[in-house]
Amino acid sequence: MPHVVTQSCVGDGSCVFACPVNCIQPTPDDPAFELAEMLHVDPTACVDCGACISACPVDAIKPHSQLTEAERAFEVINAQYHATPRPRPKMAPVRPPLRVRDRGEPLRVAIVGSGPAAMYAAEELLTVPGARVDVYERLDRPHGLVRSGVAPDHRRTRRVSRQMERIADHPGLTLHLGVEVGRDVTHEGLLEDHHAVIYAVGAASDRKLEVAGADLPGVVSATQLVGWYNGHPDHAARAIDLSCRRAIVIGNGNVALDVARVLTMDPEALDGSEIAPEALEALRASRIEEVVVVARRGIEGSAFTLPELVGLRATPGVAVDVEDSELAGVAPGNAKIDLLRELPAATDGDRTIALRYRRAPVRVVGGGTAVGPEAGSDAVAGLEVERTTVDATGAVVGTGETEILDAGLIVTSIGYRGLPVGDLPYDAARGVVPNASGRVVDPATAEPHPGTYVAGWIKRGPSGFIGTNKGCSQETVAALVEDYNAGRLPSPVIEPEPEPAAPGRRERLRALAGELLAARG
Ligand code: NAP
Repeated sequence: MPHVVTQSCVGDGSCVFACPVNCIQPTPDDPAFELAEMLHVDPTACVDCGACISACPVDAIKPHSQLTEAERAFEVINAQYHATPRPRPKMAPVRPPLRVRDRGEPLRVAIVGSGPAAMYAAEELLTVPGARVDVYERLDRPHGLVRSGVAPDHRRTRRVSRQMERIADHPGLTLHLGVEVGRDVTHEGLLEDHHAVIYAVGAASDRKLEVAGADLPGVVSATQLVGWYNGHPDHAARAIDLSCRRAIVIGNGNVALDVARVLTMDPEALDGSEIAPEALEALRASRIEEVVVVARRGIEGSAFTLPELVGLRATPGVAVDVEDSELAGVAPGNAKIDLLRELPAATDGDRTIALRYRRAPVRVVGGGTAVGPEAGSDAVAGLEVERTTVDATGAVVGTGETEILDAGLIVTSIGYRGLPVGDLPYDAARGVVPNASGRVVDPATAEPHPGTYVAGWIKRGPSGFIGTNKGCSQETVAALVEDYNAGRLPSPVIEPEPEPAAPGRRERLRALAGELLAARG
């Protein structure tokens, strides 16, 4: 009974290392791993031991006999990956353990942020005997995008927070909630108390849509909307007006699909999830009937991944509509497009997600043309788009032909963006801190900033899945340990642990009374 990797795969590779016959691919040492949309069990090699099921942090792996009807597509996706034979070793790769020089003191590291990149860095550091890790989180709740980014209906993916909690429970780790670097502690202060500081602060903002009208009421970013429905303290109090019939989502990555799905699915299916109660109430009262997902490339350039498309197709009550003209131009054989080709026949529902292609935003149209209660106001009434083609180099080129799509809510979902971190160097074009394998470097001289490292989206930009951060953080920790071994990280100034206070008279009397009672039985 072969096992099957399904939608919630976060790509952290735990299953790969657990599999005794190396039948889960690609493996983390394979260059394809970084770009893989999910991992795949080879049904002909799987020995049905179930080790991968125990290892997976998000219960993404199932025996094929336990797949739901909607998950059957994953049986084909897993098998198809292995249909092309690739030579592979019989055993999964083994990562050499970190070799840390004994400097007569424990390795002490401060990590800023508590999302997946931070926790994977902590996990790796805590493999060093005696290591001490302090994790600083500015919010009063930990684990970053695991809590405030993953869609509430992706309940299995959200289970990755259990993995984060297990790491946080390590006795060598101290989690400091509600502590902001720059406000409550300084970078210099952290460096005094630790050998090194790792910034794993993610990409807290989003790319801005640079068109006229983008600041009109009714235009929100995915960061704001996702933060709102996930109850992120920065966004929970936001008022999102769902009184229009049609919303537009600009961009068609996985975040755009999350947003489109949450806005169209039956809100009752979100009851009991971790959605913010106010957002659930607003969705119950929503009048949105259609969400148009607008992309500037053609269907072959869809930024969403295959597993997310399978999940979207299976959302009850939501019809997904793709223009025939887009499907007609592509030959069968591309799994994502073949699935899209099946969509109109395979789905049915009260609300619709329309996937629209080759349209670049030109301007947000305000007031006047709206059909709903916002008619005549300054609020959003639609989006003017220019039809596009994609040239031989892959660049999007405008055709000059424009059209206006009516909508009362526009969500920009065109990618996240990292913000500057204190006085560290900042690459404004990419929204990242310049670094070499995680070591923060001065972009002009390539000189490293002593003791300062980055991991996750602030290091490499907003790409990949939760598990992608594991390899990213391991690379950073390897660089840090190399510097520690080479003596490039000065010893921290450690305050001596305070002596436990001698018991006072009252405590001594209480202890004596306890002993007497115990003696009497
Ligand atoms: P993304 O995958 O990079 O998609 C960004 C989209 O915005 C693309 O369609 C891009 O189109 C478009 N875009 C960028 N600039 C634009 C502009 N000026 N005008 C119009 N369109 C523009 O980003 P994302 O959806 O925010 O996701 C971020 C990362 O998180 C991804 O790696 C994603 O897979 C991951 N994620 C995963 C999951 C999951 O596994 N369930 C869920 C959420 C997010 P072009 O291609 O034309 O630039």
